[in-house]
Amino acid sequence: KKAKNAAIRNECVQVIVRCRPLSNKEKAGAYQQVVEVYPNRGVIEILNPTETTRENKKMFTYDAVYNAISTQQNIYDEVIRPLVSSVLEGFNGCVFAYGQTGTGKTFTMEGTRESPEQKGIIPRTFEQIWSHINRTQNMNFLVAVSYLEIYMEELRDLLKPGNNHLELRERDNGIYVPNLHSVLCKSVDEMLKVMNMGNKNRTVGFTNMNEHSSRSHAVFLIKIEMCDVDSTAVKVGCLNLVDLAGSERQSKSGATAERLKEASKINRALSSLGNVISALAEKSPHVPYRDSKLTRLLQDSLGGNSKTIMIANIGPSEYNYNETLTTLRYAHRAK
Ligand code: ADP
Ligand code: MG
Repeated sequence: KKAKNAAIRNECVQVIVRCRPLSNKEKAGAYQQVVEVYPNRGVIEILNPTETTRENKKMFTYDAVYNAISTQQNIYDEVIRPLVSSVLEGFNGCVFAYGQTGTGKTFTMEGTRESPEQKGIIPRTFEQIWSHINRTQNMNFLVAVSYLEIYMEELRDLLKPGNNHLELRERDNGIYVPNLHSVLCKSVDEMLKVMNMGNKNRTVGFTNMNEHSSRSHAVFLIKIEMCDVDSTAVKVGCLNLVDLAGSERQSKSGATAERLKEASKINRALSSLGNVISALAEKSPHVPYRDSKLTRLLQDSLGGNSKTIMIANIGPSEYNYNETLTTLRYAHRAK
C-alpha cells in the first residue's frame, strides 16, 4: 500500500512541508541529500553535513509532509480540496507557499504547463470551484477574482498595470482595497486567463522575473458569493492563494542601500506572518495583524472561522542546509 500521510486534522491552521526532488544540476553535482521525509509520521529529519558527532540530526513534526515523489494531485486532494469545499460553503481560507527561492513555491501554487499532472493548486482550485457550481442546483454564484503583489510594502494591482500604491482601508465588514480591480469570471478558462494576465504584468518593468518574484508576494484573491435561488441571504467565501517572497537571508555584503531596505521589508513581512500564524495556532488573544501589509490585507481570512494552510517548501541538498533548517523552524513555530 502506498505510504500516505496520517489523516490531516481539521484545525484552523495546518502546516505542511514539501521537499522537492533533486534538480538535474544537483544530481550532476552529486550533492549529498540531507533531508529525510517520513510521510506516515509527518516527520522531517535533517542532517547537519558539517557535524560529525551523533547529534547531527534534527527532527520536526508537521500536520503532513510530502516527499519528492508526491504529486500535485496528492497535495491538492489531501490538503487543499477540503479547504476549497469550506470556502464554497461561505468560509474564508488562505494558502501560503513559503520557502527559499528555488524550492518550489511557484511550482506548488501554479505548477507548470508541461503536463496536466503538473498543474498546481491555483488552477486545480478553479476546477473544483466550477465543478461544484455546475453541479449545484437551486443556487446562484458570483465568482470574482483580484490579483495583486506586495513589493516593499507597496500594493500593486496585477490586473491593471500602473495601478500601484493601493491603500488598505477598514470598514464595518472588514478590510478592503479601494480601486483594486476585480474581474467576474464564469468558467475555469476565464479564471486561467486572468491568472495568466496577472502573471504577465508581474514582469512589467523588471528585467529579471525570477529576481523580482523572489522579492515580492503574489496574492491571488477569489471571492465567491452564493445564495439560494429562493432567498436573498448571501453567503461569501474568500480564498487567498499566496506565493510568498523568497525567505532566504539577503546577503549584506555589497548590497546597495535600496537592497538592504528591500531585504529588511521582506524579512519583516515574513516574520510578521509567522507571528500572526503562531498567535492563531496558540489561540492567543492578541494577533498582530497590523505589523505588515500582507497580514493586514488578509486579516479577515486569518483567524475566526477561517482556515489557513502554510506550505513550507524545502530542497533536499546539503548546500541548502542552513536555509532549510531556518524554514523548518519557521514552519514549526507556526504550529
Ligand atoms: P520558487 O517559486 O520557490 O522560487 P520554483 O517553483 O520556481 O521555486 O521551482 C524551482 C524549480 O524546481 C522549477 O524549475 C520547478 O519546476 C522545479 N520544481 C520545484 N518543485 C518541484 C517538484 N515538486 N517536482 C518537480 N519539479 C519541481
Ligand atoms: Mg517562484
